[in-house]
Amino acid sequence: MERRNISILGSTGSIGTQTLDVISLTQNIEINYLTTNSNIDLLEIQCVNFNPKGVVVTDYESFKQFKSKTSFKGEIHFGDDGLNLVTSDISTNLLISSLVGFAGVIPTLNAINNKIDVALANKETLVAAGEIITKAAKDNNVNIFPIDSEHSAIQQCLTGEKMEEVEKIILTASGGPFLDTSYDSFDSITIKDALNHPNWTMGSKITIDSATLMNKGLEVIEAYWLFGLKIEEIDVIIHPQSIIHSMVQFSDSSVKAQLGLPDMKVPIAYAINFPHHKPYPFKRMNLADIGSLTFFEPDYNKFPNLKLAFKALEKGGTSCCVLNAVNEITVQQFLDGNISFKSISDINSLMLDKIESISNPSIQDIIEADKNARIITNEYIKSANGIS
Ligand code: MN
Repeated sequence: MERRNISILGSTGSIGTQTLDVISLTQNIEINYLTTNSNIDLLEIQCVNFNPKGVVVTDYESFKQFKSKTSFKGEIHFGDDGLNLVTSDISTNLLISSLVGFAGVIPTLNAINNKIDVALANKETLVAAGEIITKAAKDNNVNIFPIDSEHSAIQQCLTGEKMEEVEKIILTASGGPFLDTSYDSFDSITIKDALNHPNWTMGSKITIDSATLMNKGLEVIEAYWLFGLKIEEIDVIIHPQSIIHSMVQFSDSSVKAQLGLPDMKVPIAYAINFPHHKPYPFKRMNLADIGSLTFFEPDYNKFPNLKLAFKALEKGGTSCCVLNAVNEITVQQFLDGNISFKSISDINSLMLDKIESISNPSIQDIIEADKNARIITNEYIKSANGIS
């Protein structure tokens, strides 16, 4: 069997480490490059275990430190130039794009422009630059395999189907830790409460986004681009057990759902092996143990972030990019203890109205819009908190 080369952007993060777990259970895969920002201790271990062709460290101090003390004999690169090299290496068959935040956008676009298939875990890529990314993928005949339980579910449901026969998709949302919390008590939500997700173990940014339902909002935007849907063809339903990962409804009323235990390794394995379901020893689902699956309409008043995502899609241009950037700042400011949980969506809403959207943006416009939105949001929070 043919060996395949995989590179991982962000190999020391939550998705990166789980991807390496899946790869260690998969035959005939070789690692080209691994990259980290600053987690050089884990990178060292990954080098020993997976023997990549090379690595990239994007934080300069960490790069120097790694270079001086590592026993790794392969290539060691630094920063954006290093990432550029990784995403230009056409011997790579699949790039796992799992950098966190806006930093993932340009490297992913580079890989697509170099005709490298992408397994996409970085949300910002499609949220901020969906139009540019999907056009580049089409022009270069590149596949994008989503590493996200919902989009993987939809991709699985769509396999073998015709897009013109799809009526709508239904994204499921766990509802996060505050599904049953009354809106009156939202004022007393602490950072610790918000970081405590019932079903999934994830990084802190995405965990907060799950608690505010912004994560689902961002997934709506991703689905819009990934599957070429109309806005009104995307529904969201709350499903606290996270067993149905999403659904597709067809023209004849038939609905296909993809089910499984909440384990990110399953969508990772599907993205790596598409369109195959290769054998893995992951824990099997037993519906009798689960007992019941429940569903609710999302409460848009409690979770305005979800509405904001649809609004940003309607506005178009750089609006989704702006919403994403503003939200990254408000989440960080919440985690830093500077704003309340409720303020995350309040400020997101205010900024989405206030910050101008540029239509038909170039990638440069996207970068500018992202940067400006962050500055404006930080300044707003500073002045609102009376810090000058
Ligand atoms: Mn998801």
